[in-house]
Amino acid sequence: MRKKKTLWLAILAVVVVLLLSTYVAFISHPCRQRLKRTASVLNEIWNDRNLITQLKTPEGYQRILKERVNEPLACPDTGAPYQFFPEASIVLADAQPHKTRKFRFAIEWRHTKKGETFRVVIWSPAAKASKSKSTPSFFRILFEFIWQLTSWFNPPFRPRPADCQTNLRNVNMALMMYIQDYDEKFPPMKNVARTQLVLSPYTHNMGIFFCPITKQPYRPNPQLHHKPLPTLYYPAETPSFYEPVIHPDGLRGVAYADGHVRFATPSQWQTIQKRYKLPLP
Ligand SMILES: [Zn+2]
Ligand SMILES: [Zn+2]
Repeated sequence: MRKKKTLWLAILAVVVVLLLSTYVAFISHPCRQRLKRTASVLNEIWNDRNLITQLKTPEGYQRILKERVNEPLACPDTGAPYQFFPEASIVLADAQPHKTRKFRFAIEWRHTKKGETFRVVIWSPAAKASKSKSTPSFFRILFEFIWQLTSWFNPPFRPRPADCQTNLRNVNMALMMYIQDYDEKFPPMKNVARTQLVLSPYTHNMGIFFCPITKQPYRPNPQLHHKPLPTLYYPAETPSFYEPVIHPDGLRGVAYADGHVRFATPSQWQTIQKRYKLPLP
C-alpha cells in the first residue's frame, strides 16, 4: 500500500517537473523575449500621435519600428525575418515554425477602449497547418495545452475593429443623405475639413469622421469632387472615404460609394490606390 503511494507521488513529481520546465522554456524562449521587447516598442509607437501620422504604408511602419527596436526583427531560432499577417490581425510573427519545437510566436493586437495593446502569443497561421502527419511529441502536446490555457484567460479578440467600421459606415450614411439633398451630386471632396463641414448637418457626432484607433480623419476621395452619383460605373468598387494611416496590423478601412465598408490589406490597398489615384497626405 505504502509502495503504491510513493510510486504515485513519484509520477506526480515527474509530471510537475516536466510541466514546470516546459513552462520555463516557453517563458524564456529567446524568440518570445525578442517579440516581447518589440511589443513594448509597438506600445510606445501607438501612444505617440506624431508617430502614428507617419504610418502610411507597411514599409514606413516597418522602418519606424526598426529604428526603435535595437535588434534585428528576425527570429533568433530560425533566423527568418518576422512578417506581418494583416489577414489574421497579427502584427509580427514567425514566418516559419521553430526548429526544435514546431510552433510559432506572434504579436497579437487588440483594440480596447483604453487604447491599443500588444502581446506575444503562440500562433499557427491556420488550424489546418497544425495537423502535421508526424505523431505529436510530448512537448508539443504540453505547449498546446499551455496555449489553450492562455487563450482561456483571454477572451477571443475581434479581428476587425468594429468601431472604426461603424464610423466609416456613418460617414458614408451622412454622405448619401447629402447626395440625396443635392441633386445626386457629391459634396466638395478635395479638402477634409470642408467635406466634414458640409456633412456635419447630417450627423450629431463629429467623432464619426475620425478613426478611433489612429485618431486620424477619414479622407474623402478627391476624384468624386462634385461628381454626379449616376455617372459612377462601379459604385461598389469606388472608394468614397479611406484611412490615411494603417491600423497596427497593416489593414486600412475603406468606405465605398454604394455604402459598404471593407478593410483592405496592403496589397489590396495598392491596387485601389493606383486605380483611383488616392493621395496619402
Ligand atoms: Zn521565432
Ligand atoms: Zn481605422
